[in-house]
Amino acid sequence: MAVEIICEACGWMAIVESGYPSAVWTEHERACPAVGGAIRYYPPPEYVPPPPVNVCKHVPIKRLMATTPKGRKLYSVVCSLCGRHL
Ligand SMILES: [Zn+2]
Ligand SMILES: [Zn+2]
Repeated sequence: MAVEIICEACGWMAIVESGYPSAVWTEHERACPAVGGAIRYYPPPEYVPPPPVNVCKHVPIKRLMATTPKGRKLYSVVCSLCGRHL
């Protein structure tokens, strides 16, 4: 998988087909002509659509999570249909 390495400071760009992109970047960091040094540009992560809206009607039930050493019971409320915390 090719990795694109972009320097924001000087516009330098490299495509690393294999090997170690971080090593290539380190090399540029040393050689970058920009004042103040190299700034690595990371492209924004790809947009991930939100999961589909849950159509569950939710039937809350108390689920025993833990019992404290003092004997207090800790519950969490979850949906008995989809298992989500409510
Ligand atoms: Zn640079
Ligand atoms: Zn539910």
